[in-house]
Amino acid sequence: MKLKVNKQQRYEKMRAHTGVHLLFWALEKITWRTDIKQAGSYVDEDYWRLDFNSEKPLNWETLQKIETLVNSWIKEAIDVDIFETSLDDAIKNGAKAFFDEKYWDKVRVIKIPGADVELCGWTHSQNTSFLWAFKIISQDAVSSWIKRISIITWPKVAQHSIEQEHYINQIAQYLGAWPAQILEKIWKNQKELETLKNELNKIKEWLINSKLNSLEKQKWDFEYIIKLEDFDGIDFKTLVQKIRTTFTNSNIIIYSQEGNFAIVGNSISAKEFAKDKWLKWWGSDTIVQWRDKNILELV
Ligand SMILES: [Zn+2]
Repeated sequence: MKLKVNKQQRYEKMRAHTGVHLLFWALEKITWRTDIKQAGSYVDEDYWRLDFNSEKPLNWETLQKIETLVNSWIKEAIDVDIFETSLDDAIKNGAKAFFDEKYWDKVRVIKIPGADVELCGWTHSQNTSFLWAFKIISQDAVSSWIKRISIITWPKVAQHSIEQEHYINQIAQYLGAWPAQILEKIWKNQKELETLKNELNKIKEWLINSKLNSLEKQKWDFEYIIKLEDFDGIDFKTLVQKIRTTFTNSNIIIYSQEGNFAIVGNSISAKEFAKDKWLKWWGSDTIVQWRDKNILELV
């Protein structure tokens, strides 16, 4: 029988798996947590991921720090020490052993000086520099207690950066700017949008006022019954508020063809009035509002 190993695949898995270890250790060091437990991991040539217990997702800054720390271990070109020994000796060496797991008399230790020591039977790179580059590509929530970090190493990092550059160039092209000007351009557009919004609000205000001046007002037991026919895109609530602040001494019924209805009470309680008439209502003593097609019959 002949065994043939796919070299490329094998090396990529070695890099990926050693990377998972480095990620886990960096995670502990950067977050200052001693209770982090691996809740599963997945390794293949394309990408790999680590699931761990965390209620909150890690923020961008923390992820960047982890990435930088792992890349610094890669740059230091640390030899990965792999040896078999007794469990006691491994623990003396600083290996983390999980006491809910069963170990044989002899255990395999993966020691990366300066990083950490762990028990593991998997395939590993012999030196951290073999990873060449390390990049966190996403963080997802597996559940409310488990978060997942997905990572790539070389040569995927190169491919990833080409793709990212492509996206950035597309955004820049869309904005009509150079990549380095994107933020400035977005900031300018934001400012322009704010100015336009303010102008639009002023026009709306002007529309409301001109509408109020042309309103047909009827005298009734109520001082006014106002029918709003055309809103011109202004919402009913805004108009009611405006009417209330314009006619400060009046009791007013306001309604629209669409079934919007409001009572503005100044000397009477709008709430009590609505209750008396068996009307559904929500609001306060000064304004009651709702929407009901049948309301038109009542008016
Ligand atoms: Zn391992």
